[in-house]
Amino acid sequence: MKVKFWGVRGSTPCPGPDTVRIGGNTSCIELRYGNEDELIIIDAGSGIRLLGNHLMKTGTCPKKIKIFLTHTHSDHIMGLPYFTPIYIPGYEIDIYGPVTYEEEGLEKIISDQFSYRYFPVKHSELSATMSYHHLQQTEMTFGDLSVSTHYLNHPILTLGYRFEYDGKAISTAYDTEPFFNLFPEDPEDPSYDEFAAEEGKLAAQEANDEISAFVAGSDILIHDSQYIDEELQTSYRGWGHSSFEWTIKLAGENNIGKLLFFHHAMERCDDELETLLEGYRNNEAAAYPQMEIDLAREGIVEEC
Ligand SMILES: [Zn+2]
Ligand SMILES: [Zn+2]
Repeated sequence: MKVKFWGVRGSTPCPGPDTVRIGGNTSCIELRYGNEDELIIIDAGSGIRLLGNHLMKTGTCPKKIKIFLTHTHSDHIMGLPYFTPIYIPGYEIDIYGPVTYEEEGLEKIISDQFSYRYFPVKHSELSATMSYHHLQQTEMTFGDLSVSTHYLNHPILTLGYRFEYDGKAISTAYDTEPFFNLFPEDPEDPSYDEFAAEEGKLAAQEANDEISAFVAGSDILIHDSQYIDEELQTSYRGWGHSSFEWTIKLAGENNIGKLLFFHHAMERCDDELETLLEGYRNNEAAAYPQMEIDLAREGIVEEC
């Protein structure tokens, strides 16, 4: 299997001289496996525009395209209106993703982007055949490719994906935050309750262990690392993202071959990300010498 990154940022596109090496587009990953007649795309952030342009220019766009959405926050779907194949007859585009409220389906959430209020073309005017599929926590197979999903910890329903083909596995876990104990653990805290503190700790641990087990053994893990630990602990609890430190520990303890940090914070410039990477390589990740770590960067290809 092969993945190519077309967008690696979180939140909003942030082009400019400070992000030119690592990239300023939001989430989009191209996945290829043995079946050359099929293209898999994970997320339709602003990077999908460039992927579409590349496929058209090189004449390498298979007629069948599957887009797996991790969730429907705007940074993960905003590029779809600019993905050229949706305007060409003969293309079959299947979009898979989770929805938080069944009564507001995936097709409605996506097609609302094509309202004249936001965009000059209506969803009903698209020339490709567009199909929508609600996903829950599940396992599917498409020929020899198996795709399984797992719920993550984010303010709306969000899925991690695990793709397996020919004995190899590539997993994604973003956008997601570590589960924390919801009850105070400090006996000095006026609302401390020993039983609640212990139960809360166990519940968080179990939920984190489930996600770890889902990605365990992956040759490549693409994981949310929007924050450094101090930012997460002091300012961003509940925003639905992980830290580099958390991600390294999770991956290192779960037999990951290569960990790619993903969903970079929009304010974090190239130099800062490179410096952080070097620091983690020399410190936190040095405890796991069997594992490689790197930043997901626009344009790179990873293979397993
Ligand atoms: Zn996001
Ligand atoms: Zn999100």
